[in-house]
Amino acid sequence: MDRIEEKILALIDANAPRLQALADDIFHHAEQGYHEYRTAKLVADFLKELGLEPREGLAITGVKAAIGKGTGPNVALIGELDGLACPTHPDATELGFAHSCGHYAQIVCMLGAALALSDPEVAASLDGTATIFAVPAEEFQDASVREEVRASHDVHCAGGKCELLRRGEFDDIDLAVTTHSLMVDRDSGADLVLGNSACTGFVGKTVYLHGRAAHAAAAPHMGINALNAACLGMSALGMVRETFQEKDCVRVHPYIRKGGEAINIVPSETIVDMMVRANNQPAIEHVSEQVDNCFKGAAMAIGCEAEIVNAQGYTPCPQRLPDQVMWDAAALLGDKYKVVSIPDGACNTASTDVGDLFAVMPVLNFTFGGSTGDLHSKDYKVSDPDVAHILPAKMMALLAYRLLKDGGAEAKKIVDGYQAPYTKESYKEYVKKISG
Ligand SMILES: [Zn+2]
Repeated sequence: MDRIEEKILALIDANAPRLQALADDIFHHAEQGYHEYRTAKLVADFLKELGLEPREGLAITGVKAAIGKGTGPNVALIGELDGLACPTHPDATELGFAHSCGHYAQIVCMLGAALALSDPEVAASLDGTATIFAVPAEEFQDASVREEVRASHDVHCAGGKCELLRRGEFDDIDLAVTTHSLMVDRDSGADLVLGNSACTGFVGKTVYLHGRAAHAAAAPHMGINALNAACLGMSALGMVRETFQEKDCVRVHPYIRKGGEAINIVPSETIVDMMVRANNQPAIEHVSEQVDNCFKGAAMAIGCEAEIVNAQGYTPCPQRLPDQVMWDAAALLGDKYKVVSIPDGACNTASTDVGDLFAVMPVLNFTFGGSTGDLHSKDYKVSDPDVAHILPAKMMALLAYRLLKDGGAEAKKIVDGYQAPYTKESYKEYVKKISG
């Protein structure tokens, strides 16, 4: 361990109580994606206190600040601002939002890393830039929210990273470091899991079924029941599920956002929202077509009109086993922590807009333990604040330093060795084609 690494660890240890207080604060004030105003201000104020000059209001709530020289590789250290709708969580806000995906811990981790890296001596040792980047809306937003932020802020993408990529806010970034609360194997006892398991990508789909209202008892023969069409469409979807192939990791999960108008009226308008996921783009497109046929056929049978609107989702994430630099950084954290690799060949059937970062640049990811209960459930809670909040901050800071020291050699090696499926410009074209 060199002097700078010792200093990084000492700085984070010395500020652990401050970071824990911050974790508690953000955890109890979860906000909806693209509406994380309070959390964003907290992040910006913290960075300003460190003497940094953050840019704010990026894709509504994103905050970005640079540490280092401005030459050499530029490594983004990412934290996600959003909570999610989880009204049954005991710590949900009045509006029903909770940090039951652990994103608050990712913000604390990113700020802990910023705290260590912005120390003048540490910053001077970086042969490149560490960009602290708090991003909005990792969770895919409901169609109603998507429509709202499109109208209010010209946001075209449901995912915050997709929108920031579209706006060119990642144009200056060469490599991203991301982290997340442990997704799978939550009872494995691992404190850190290095690497990125493959994740599904998806398309967002909204099915509007238009029927005709009528008195539900006196004249149902005058109505066209849009709810019946929705139910029939979902039954058809259940019947085509046997064609989904395991190798594609398909997930289709609809819910009825609007089921009708009133108790004694034949439902005339029904809205079904869903995500159509798979681990490769051709499968996403194929299954998306099958789903469309289910609802079109159901609408025809009942006599409804079906209108189907697809929204850009996230691109599938590739697997990336841990790079040596991650093992080297993790080795400095001490023997008391259990550090393992992602299982080779596993597919995480959830999705993340980190997939869209992978579309244009290499991403080094790790997940951290210290919590129990399923993600996105009322049971998610922190069991070990040191592992959930302080350990990942150390890992992120050490990793950034290792990537950027010695002329940024490690960062350059990873960037040079990565074959991105898109250039930053061709990604923007792809978004434009789908989302305007
Ligand atoms: Zn998440």
